[in-house]
Amino acid sequence: MTEFKTLRGMRDLLPEDAKMMVYVQETARKVAKLYGYKEIITPVVESYELLATKAGDEVKSRMFTFKDLGGRDVALRPEFTPSVARLVATSMRNEPKPFRIFCMGSAYRYDEPQRGRYREFWQSDFELVGTFRPEADAEILTLTDSLFQKVGLRKFGLKVGHVGILRGMLGKEKVKEKDQNAIMQLMDKKQHDDAVKLVEDAGVSKKCVEAVRELIECKGKDIVDVLNRIKELVKDYESSVAAVENLRTILELVNKSGYKIDLTVDAGFARGLEYYTGMVFEIFVPDLDIALGGGGRYDKLVELFGGEPTPAVGVAHGLDRMTLAMETQKIDFKAKEERTIIVVPIKEELKTEALKIARLLRDANMLVEVEVMGRKMTKALEDADRRKTDYAIIVGERELKEGSVVLRDLSKRDQRIVPIEKLVDEMKR
Ligand code: AMP
Repeated sequence: MTEFKTLRGMRDLLPEDAKMMVYVQETARKVAKLYGYKEIITPVVESYELLATKAGDEVKSRMFTFKDLGGRDVALRPEFTPSVARLVATSMRNEPKPFRIFCMGSAYRYDEPQRGRYREFWQSDFELVGTFRPEADAEILTLTDSLFQKVGLRKFGLKVGHVGILRGMLGKEKVKEKDQNAIMQLMDKKQHDDAVKLVEDAGVSKKCVEAVRELIECKGKDIVDVLNRIKELVKDYESSVAAVENLRTILELVNKSGYKIDLTVDAGFARGLEYYTGMVFEIFVPDLDIALGGGGRYDKLVELFGGEPTPAVGVAHGLDRMTLAMETQKIDFKAKEERTIIVVPIKEELKTEALKIARLLRDANMLVEVEVMGRKMTKALEDADRRKTDYAIIVGERELKEGSVVLRDLSKRDQRIVPIEKLVDEMKR
C-alpha cells in the first residue's frame, strides 16, 4: 500500500501546534474587535486574472493556478488584498468611508519550502479603506504592534520605508512604470547592485543614479536623522520630498501617541507587490531572518478593479511565522488554559450517570471528557494522568446513592466526596 504523505510544503498541524495557531488567530480576532475591524470571509479560489493583476512577477510565478472543470483560469489566493479590493469595488462600494475590514485564513504560494516558508500558510489581514490620511497608516502600524504584544512576543521590530521616495525620483526621470516595477522588485529582493544597474540602464541622470546608490545606505533607528538625510538626497524631486514628509508624519503620530515601537527607517526598502503607493513596512524578530508580516498603503488598487478611486492601507501578518517566533522566544501561552476534567464511571451501568454529570459541567462551560474505553478505574486514571488532565470525577454506586461523586485532584493526588448539586460551585473555586 502507498503511504500517503502531505504534499511538499503542506503541513498537518497536530493538537499542540494547532492550539498555538488557534491562539494566535483568536488574538488577531480580539485585536480586530478592539480596533473596530469587521470580519469578512472570502473564497480561497478566485479568478486568476483578479489575483494576477498587480501581484508582481514574483508572486504571480508562484501561484497555484489551474483550469476548473468549466475551463476557467482560477488560482488559490496567494494573499487577501485582491479579494478585499474586489469587494470594495463591488458589493461594498456604497459602504460609508472609512471602513475597517479584517479577514483570516490560509493562503497558497509555490515557495521553496524551508523553516517558516510553506506552500500553505495562514495570514490575518487588516485593511483600512477610504482615507489617505497618515492617521490611517499609523493605525495599521499600532494595531500590528498590539497583535504582537498580545500574543506575548516582546522582541520584535518594524522596518519602515516609503515607495514614493524612489518612485518619485524615477517618475521625474521619466522611467517607465514597467521598469520602475522591475527596479522595486530587485530592491525588495535586496539585489541592490542589479537595481542600480537597471536605474542606470533606464537612462536617468548621473545625479539620480548617485542619489539612489546613497539612498540604499540610508537607514537607522534615529528616525529624525535618517529622514533628514533622505530628504537632503532627494531634494530635487518634489514628490519624493512629499513622501519623506508623509513618512515623518506617520511615524511621529505613532511615537507621540505613546506606542513604544522599535522602528527602523530604511530608504532602500521596497515590497514585491506592485500595488503599494506609499508607506510600506515589515515586521521582524531577532532570531528569524524572514518577515513576520508586511503591509503598506495602496491607493490605486481598488480603481484597477473597476471601483471608485479609493485610498487604502493594510497589513498581512504571517501567523505560522508568529507561532515560530513564539516558540523561539519561549512564550508560555498555555498558562491561560482552562482546567480539564475526566468523568469515569466505576461500572458499565453508571455510564448514563457519567454522561449526565459531564453535561452538567459543560453547561457551566467546563472542559469535560468522558471515559469511553470501558476501562477499569485505575487504568482510566493512569491514562488521565499521562494526558495531564487536572481532575477526575469518579462515579461510584455508593456515593451516587447519597447524591454525590468522588472528586479527585490528579496533580495533588487527593480526593473528596462532593454532592452533585455542589459540583459546579466546587469546580469553580
Ligand atoms: P507578503 O505580502 O508577501 O509580504 O506576505 C505577508 C506575510 O505573510 C509575510 O510577512 C510572511 O509572514 C507571510 N508569508 C508569506 N509567504 C509565506 C510562506 N510561503 N510561508 C509562510 N508565511 C508566509
